[in-house]
Amino acid sequence: MLCPWCQHLEDKVIDSRETKEGNLIRRRRECLKCGKRFTTYERIEEIPYQVEKKDGRRERFDRQKVLNGLVKACEKRPISNQQLQTMVDQVEARVMENPDRELSTRDIGEILMAELKQLDKIAYVRFASVYRTFADEREFLDEVAKLLEQRRPS
Ligand SMILES: [Zn+2]
Repeated sequence: MLCPWCQHLEDKVIDSRETKEGNLIRRRRECLKCGKRFTTYERIEEIPYQVEKKDGRRERFDRQKVLNGLVKACEKRPISNQQLQTMVDQVEARVMENPDRELSTRDIGEILMAELKQLDKIAYVRFASVYRTFADEREFLDEVAKLLEQRRPS
C-alpha cells in the first residue's frame, strides 16, 4: 500500500477486521519508512494473495514462482507436470483459506516439502536444501544419508 504521507510502498498490517457488512476489510497499517499509521478499506475479492518473506517483506502470491522452484527440484525426476500443478494448487488453496490471505515463504516451503517427501525423495532433498528449512544441518544430512541408504543396490 502506498503510504499517504511519504509514498513509501511497504507497510505492516497492525490490525485487520471485517466490516459489519462482511464484504470489506478494514486494515490499520504502519508505514515501514516513516512509521505513520493509516487505514485502508479493501473489498474482500480485491485483496491480493500475499506471501510473507523471511525478512518480513510481502509480495503478491505468484503461482509461476512456486512452480519454477518445484520444476527445478524435480528436474529429471519421474514427476508429471500434472503432479506439479496439483502441488501448486494446494499451496494456493492454503493461501486463500488463511483469513489474512497470506502465507509465509516458510509455510509454503513446508507444504511443498511434505508433498515432495511422498512423491520423490530426491526431489524432496533438493528442494529442502534450496529452501534451507531443515531445523539444522544434521537433520539435512540424516535425510541425505537415508536417501543413499535406499539407493544402495541390495
Ligand atoms: Zn510513510
